Order: sequence, then C-alpha cells, then structure tokens
Amino acid sequence: MVKIFIDPGHGGSDPGAVGNGLQEKNITLQIATRIRDILGSEYENVELRMSRTGDSAVSLSNRTNAANAWGADFLLSIHINAGGGTGYEDYVYPNVGAPTTTYQNIIHEEVTKSVDFANRGKKQANFHMLRESAMPALLTENGFIDNSSDAAKLTQPSFIESIARGHVNGLARAFGLKKKQITLYRIQIGAFSDKENADSLAAQAKIAGFEAFVLAENGLYKVRAGAFSNRSNAEQQVQRLTAAGFEAFIL
Ligand SMILES: [Zn+2]
Repeated sequence: MVKIFIDPGHGGSDPGAVGNGLQEKNITLQIATRIRDILGSEYENVELRMSRTGDSAVSLSNRTNAANAWGADFLLSIHINAGGGTGYEDYVYPNVGAPTTTYQNIIHEEVTKSVDFANRGKKQANFHMLRESAMPALLTENGFIDNSSDAAKLTQPSFIESIARGHVNGLARAFGLKKKQITLYRIQIGAFSDKENADSLAAQAKIAGFEAFVLAENGLYKVRAGAFSNRSNAEQQVQRLTAAGFEAFIL
C-alpha cells in the first residue's frame, strides 16, 4: 500500500496568491481534490490523505505534522505561482538526492506532457513543506495567477483536469501503481456469419433509439448495444431493448 499525502496550498484566511479575479487557495483545492479522486477511483493499493478538504486555514507545521504522523510515503504540495512569469515548475529540497529527485523527474515529465504550460524546469528550494516532511516531497507551481494567459487556463475545468491527470500519471509511474480492473457488462443483440444481416440489425436498433455497432470477432459479426460498468444499468438496458423487440443479453 502506497500512502500519498496531498497538500492543497493555503486556505481559509490565507488566499495565497491572487490575480485576475482568482485566488490560489481555491485552485489548489480543485487540483488536489481531483488528484485524490482519480487516484482513489482508478488505481489499486493507494491510500490518500489531504491536509485540507475544504476552505480552511491549516498552518504549515500542522500540514507536515499530519503527513509525518500518518507515515506518508510521499508528500505532494500543490501551488499556483505569482510574481511575473508564466508556466509550470516544481521543487524539491536542495541536494535531497534520490529517490526524491527520481520522483521529481517522473512527475515533472508527466505534468509537462499533459499540460499546455511553458516548462520552467525542475528546481530546488528550502520550503517548509519540503524541509519538514519526513518523506520524499515535491511542491508544484501550476502556472502564474497574475499572468492573464495562465489565469484564463486555470478557470477551465478541462485544464484543471489535465493538471490533475499529469500529476496522477506521474505518481502512478513513480510508485508503480496499477490501474483497477473495471468489469464491463457488454450487451449483445445478435451474431451473424453474414455482415449484411448484422449491419441491418444494427440499423434497426439505431432507428429504435439505441446506440449499436457491429464488431467482427471469431468469424462472426456481432451486434453490440451498450457497455456498462454497473450491472444493474446493463440489466435496465437489456429490458429496454427487449421491450423494443430485440433479443438482448449481457455477455
Ligand atoms: Zn502558494
């Protein structure tokens, strides 16, 4: 089990950097929450904890104390930059060495691959979160809130998602996290040796309002009409197809 402590910078009475109508504390919470949710729902053997889950003021000491007391394997601190610049950079404690620098290399590569930000490089700094944490720690600065182009990007949910995905991809690679196997309940309404018959049935299903497609598999043309990760949703789809006159079943 890998324990990852995620720290959304600032919060409560401390807004962090402000600019272009944005407050750093809100964006760091959005990014950190998405990182936690994606890792928790899509990856195995990972435990997650955050320094704050709402708009509350938490001191720097309380943040590192919480990560140390929990025995986190890694601390990730999320920030937004300010002060005249543009793009992404990340920090480790000066001269910390491996494995922290290895994690930095991997996460830096994945974030810059996933996010449309200028790459300001991998850096080192004597920050509290990096110095007082007992485990490898990385602090990421995700764009400049006082840069209008960076700020405009940070207002888009899809951009927040790509920042979170970049961090998740980096963490997954750095710690060898495996994806959860998701069972898909696939629905079939026919199988034919003749492609024309399969196409015709798929067309009928589409006219009846279902999404259907033909798949060539093991010498047969199979007509599929839906795939669901939730079995009861798949069963409901079978009932709707049956009511519409199709011979539907879950594979
Ligand atoms: Zn900050």
